[in-house]
Amino acid sequence: MKEEILKFFKGVADDSEEALAKYSKDASIFEIRPKLVLYPLDSDDVVNLVEWVSANKEKYPDLSITARCAGTDMSGGAIGESIVLDFTRYMNKLITFDGDRITVEPGMLYRDFEKITLAKGLILPCYTASKSMNAMGGMFGNNSAGEKTLKYGKAEDYILESKVVFADAVERTVKPFPLSEIVGQEEIYKKVYNLIKENEGEIKNAKPNVHKNSAGYYVWNVIKNNIFDLNKLLVGSQGTLGIATEITFKLVPVAQSSKLVVIFMRDLEPLGRLVGEILVEKPEALEAYDDKTLWLAIKFFREFLKNKGFLEIVKFFWSFLPEFKMMLRGGFPKLVLLVEFAGENEQNLNYKCEKMIEKIKNFQVEVHVTKDRNEAGKYWDIRRESFNLLRKHIHGKRTAPFIDDIIVRPEFLPKFLPELNRILGEYKLIYTIAGHAGDGNFHIIPLMDFSRPGVSQVINELSEKVYDLVLRYQGSITAEHNDGLIRTPYLEKMYGARITSIFKEVKKIFDPKNIFNPGKKIPVAGGPGTKEYIASHLALEHHAKHGV
Ligand SMILES: Cc1cc2nc3c(=O)[nH]c(=O)nc-3n(C[C@H](O)[C@H](O)[C@H](O)COP(=O)(O)OP(=O)(O)OC[C@H]3O[C@@H](n4cnc5c(N)ncnc54)[C@H](O)[C@@H]3O)c2cc1C
Repeated sequence: MKEEILKFFKGVADDSEEALAKYSKDASIFEIRPKLVLYPLDSDDVVNLVEWVSANKEKYPDLSITARCAGTDMSGGAIGESIVLDFTRYMNKLITFDGDRITVEPGMLYRDFEKITLAKGLILPCYTASKSMNAMGGMFGNNSAGEKTLKYGKAEDYILESKVVFADAVERTVKPFPLSEIVGQEEIYKKVYNLIKENEGEIKNAKPNVHKNSAGYYVWNVIKNNIFDLNKLLVGSQGTLGIATEITFKLVPVAQSSKLVVIFMRDLEPLGRLVGEILVEKPEALEAYDDKTLWLAIKFFREFLKNKGFLEIVKFFWSFLPEFKMMLRGGFPKLVLLVEFAGENEQNLNYKCEKMIEKIKNFQVEVHVTKDRNEAGKYWDIRRESFNLLRKHIHGKRTAPFIDDIIVRPEFLPKFLPELNRILGEYKLIYTIAGHAGDGNFHIIPLMDFSRPGVSQVINELSEKVYDLVLRYQGSITAEHNDGLIRTPYLEKMYGARITSIFKEVKKIFDPKNIFNPGKKIPVAGGPGTKEYIASHLALEHHAKHGV
C-alpha cells in the first residue's frame, strides 16, 4: 500500500513501529493500530489520496482515511485501522488574516493560532481546555467548545467558510448561500436539502433541549433564516463526511478587563439552585472543578510551575490562602465554581461581581474575589489542566473518559445531580468532576484499573444508566467531546431509530463507500461503532506516555 501511495503522494508516509504505536492512541480509552501514517504536504495530496482510496476500496475493502490533527480526541475519533492522515506536520499554515476573518490550514495548533489573533486583539472564543495541545482541524472535526461557550457558543458559530475534500476527490469551497439558490447547486447539496426538508418535523422534535450538543450529525442549522450552510453539518462530523483542508474562522475582540469570583462549596446539594442564581447575572464563564481535582493540583504543583522562578512558587502557595483558610474553618471544598465577568471597565466589573455576591449571600458558600489576572490564572490553570493531571499522574489506574461529556439544562441540575451521584455511588469508583457548570455540562472522569476483568462491563453498564438519566432530562450524551467510538453505539438510544436512519442517509450522501473514518457516528456491523468493538479495543496501557 505504501509503495502505491508514494507514487502520487508528495508528503511523508510512515509505517515504522514507532509511528504505528504512537498513532494507535488519542486521548480516549482505546488502542487501535493503523496500517500507515501519512503527513500530507498540501491539499493536492489529500485530493489524490481520497481518489486512490476510493478507486481501491473494492480491491482492499478495509481501506479508509482517518483525518487527524493533534490527537487529543477523547472519544476515539482520531484513531482508525487503516490510514491516519496527520495535518499537524506540514498543513499548519496561516493562509490569510483580514479584519476579523482568519483562514488557516487544519494542522495549525491552537496555541500558535492564538498568538496570531491576540496580536491583533482578537480571539476565537470557543477555545478548549486543551488549548495548549489541540489544533484547528480538530476543533472543526469535533465542533469544540470551552469555558467561553456559555456566552459565545461553539466552533459551529465561528466557521465562515471551509475547503473540504469530498469522497469524489473534489475539493469544494463550502460557504453559506441563499436558500433560493439551492436549485442551481450540485447533487450533494440538493440531496441534503431534500433529506432535511422531507424529515423536517422529526428533525425538529429530536433536537436535544440543551445549550450545546456534539452527538450525531448536526442537521438542525443547515437551513436557517433562508440560508443554506453545509458547514453546519460538516463541523462536528469527525471527518466522516469529508476532510477539511482550509478553515476560515470569525474572531471576536478580546475583552478589555475581566474579574474572576471563586465560590467554594462544601455541600453539593444546592449546586443546581446556585447555578441558576448566578446565571441571572449573565457571567462570561461559569466553570467548576471538584475537590479531587484541587488536591491533584496542589500535589503536582511543580507541573504548573515549570520554568517559573522562586518568587512565583512562593506566590503560588500564597495564592492558596483562601483554600487553606477554608480548611481550617472546617474542611476542604467539595466543589470550586469559577464565575468570570468581562467588560470594558473595572468599575462596571466590580459592580457586576458585587451584585452576584449579594444574590447568593444566603447560600452556605465561601466567596473569594481574585485580585488580578495572575491570581485568576491559577484557578483557570487548575480547571484546564484537570484531565491532563489525572492522565499523567495516577499510577496503577487510568483515566477512563466514557461518560465524560454529559449535558442537561442547568435548571434540571438540582434533581439531576443527586440521581447521577446515586448511580456513580453504586460502582464505588474514584472519579473527578470538572466542567462547564453554566451550561450544565459535566466531565466525569473515573479512574479504573484496565487490567482487571469486568472493566468493559462496567463501562457498558454505567454508560447505559447515565445516558438513560441524561435522556430523561432531555439532555445530550456529548456536549462537545463528540461520539467517536465510545458514543456511536448509544446514538440510537439518544435519538431513536428514525433519526439515526436519517444520519445513515447523511453518511450515504457524502460517503457511499465508507472511506472516511468508519465506525464514528455510524456503526459498522460487527466492527467499529459497536459495543463489542469498545470491549475488544480498550487500551490496557496508559496512553499519556505517548504524549497526546
Ligand atoms: C486535557 C483535555 C482537555 C480537553 N478539553 C476540551 C474542551 O474543553 N472542550 C472540547 O470541546 N474538547 C476538549 N477536549 C477534546 C479535544 O481536545 C478537542 O475536541 C480538540 O479540539 C480536538 O483537537 P485535535 O487537534 O486534538 O483533534 P484530533 O483529536 O486530531 O481530531 C478530532 C476529530 O476531528 C477530526 N479531524 C481532524 N482533522 C480533520 C480534518 N482536517 N478534517 C475533518 N476532520 C478532522 C478527527 O478525525 C477526529 O474525529 C479535551 C481533551 C483533552 C485531552
